[in-house]
Amino acid sequence: MSLITVGTMAFDAIETPFGKSDKIIGGSATYVAYSASHFTQPIMQISIIGNDFPETELKDLQARGVMLEGVESVADKKSFFWSGKYHLDMNTRDTLVTDLNVLADFEPVVPNSYQQAEFLMLGNLMPKLQKSVIQQLKTRPKLIVMDTMNFWMETALDDLKEVLMMVDVLLVNDGEARLLSGEYSLVKAAKKIMAMGPKYLIIKKGEHGALLFHQDHVFFAPALPLEEVFDPTGAGDTFAGGFIGHLAKTKDISFENMKTAIIMGSAMASFCVEKFGTQRLKEINRQDIQHRISEFIDLVNFDIDIV
Ligand code: AMP
Repeated sequence: MSLITVGTMAFDAIETPFGKSDKIIGGSATYVAYSASHFTQPIMQISIIGNDFPETELKDLQARGVMLEGVESVADKKSFFWSGKYHLDMNTRDTLVTDLNVLADFEPVVPNSYQQAEFLMLGNLMPKLQKSVIQQLKTRPKLIVMDTMNFWMETALDDLKEVLMMVDVLLVNDGEARLLSGEYSLVKAAKKIMAMGPKYLIIKKGEHGALLFHQDHVFFAPALPLEEVFDPTGAGDTFAGGFIGHLAKTKDISFENMKTAIIMGSAMASFCVEKFGTQRLKEINRQDIQHRISEFIDLVNFDIDIV
């Protein structure tokens, strides 16, 4: 049960119509690791941090079974910083600041102790760095899942297309699926994107759930209707962590099990948005997750008699 997670470990400053955070801990790999650690441990983290990344946060991650041998620490630079502002719908946001800092010269190195990992989660990061991690692995993992974002489609499309050829599952949101494929219909978009490499495609639709595509099959997982969404940041990464965490735990990469995995991802994402940053992911336990899963089952479970 070995899982490598790659991505950013960052500071975020978030503005929503309902509140504002100071600089808090974020980053794609941070959210993925916290989420996946509820399903499987150890998590073999690959990332980079600067001199401002708090020791207490590293200890918290380690306490949850996150290995940090692959996390480079740079003494004379700051960590990646991202700032975003959400619109009233809480689904869409504007990026206000992206300060690459340590990320500008990041060259990920896969430690020897991470070799032979069976699952690889490529969190949102420069596509060429995602590719470098795949190339350093002596044995191809059983499953490679990749997350990305519109920023890389706009600035590094050729690199992105190369990585797409190397992965099994791609995770994007609906806007990104449309951008990448040039198609408005998500069904047409899915066909085009799967022709670019990934055999499985997950399209996240925020509060409207997520779709899993494979060949001619499609499965829908709802999002739990929540009374309050406090901060959607990291929901996508948390979804990814729950998805791959469940697959790594069960070691079953069938389409049927991926259906369960996207429900797990949706459940984890529903916790993430309840508080700012990673706070909620640190508080919850197995019982909370089980209870939330049963809420998902109740949400879509009905008897029907067609008369
Ligand atoms: P999500 O809301 O799931 O899309 O993820 C938000 C997280 O992604 C934040 O914690 C940011 O630190 C991180 N992030 C934002 N922009 C980038 C980027 N260009 N590359 C990698 N990580 C990013």
